[in-house]
Amino acid sequence: MKKSTQEIISYFPSLKDYLQDNENILLTDEALSKLNDTEQVFLRLAWFFENPDKENFNLETIYKKLDGEWLSFALQVIFEFFEKDTYLLQETKFSVITEGSVYYNLADFARYLTNNGCEFSRQKLNVYVKRGVTPDPDIIVAGVRYWAEGTVESFLHYQKVASEQQLTYNDYRDRNLKTVCKYCGSKKVRLEYNSYSPKQDKVKCLDCNREYYVN
Ligand SMILES: [Zn+2]
Repeated sequence: MKKSTQEIISYFPSLKDYLQDNENILLTDEALSKLNDTEQVFLRLAWFFENPDKENFNLETIYKKLDGEWLSFALQVIFEFFEKDTYLLQETKFSVITEGSVYYNLADFARYLTNNGCEFSRQKLNVYVKRGVTPDPDIIVAGVRYWAEGTVESFLHYQKVASEQQLTYNDYRDRNLKTVCKYCGSKKVRLEYNSYSPKQDKVKCLDCNREYYVN
């Protein structure tokens, strides 16, 4: 189940039983007939998330049937779908901050690295930032730099496995972005670099937990 669908099911547990019912028209009609307007919209949205190449979702239903909290929840899960289930938003320059987003300022970033076994004082990190060897901030608000949780985590991994391989953070990130798991197709992979044999990098998939070597 997609992360965006799980989010819907956590608010509407009863919809779980209907997730497969879009496969034929009779079941579809029957499922929808048992639900109120709000539930219908979220079930159709879940059907779309689960099978975006085949299903349609009509934005008009959100406009006509939802308002207030449910409207805001629908927009949030749609954003999550694009961000977490498709990765289509990965390179965007615009940031959408949702309730679940976590951003780190410089001090939090340094603390995160230190707490995870990679000693960084605030001062040291500041020097790195000024030299341009850390990831670019994901957002800058009133002159203050913030890094997204995924960016901070990716930099920690870079420090641990790649910083001594004469690979810059941006090169490391680009190589990671180009890699998909050969077993499950997930883009949530971590590359590890083999210093003795650079062509034998190891890929670790965070979704299916498999590990393998690439040439
Ligand atoms: Zn995988």
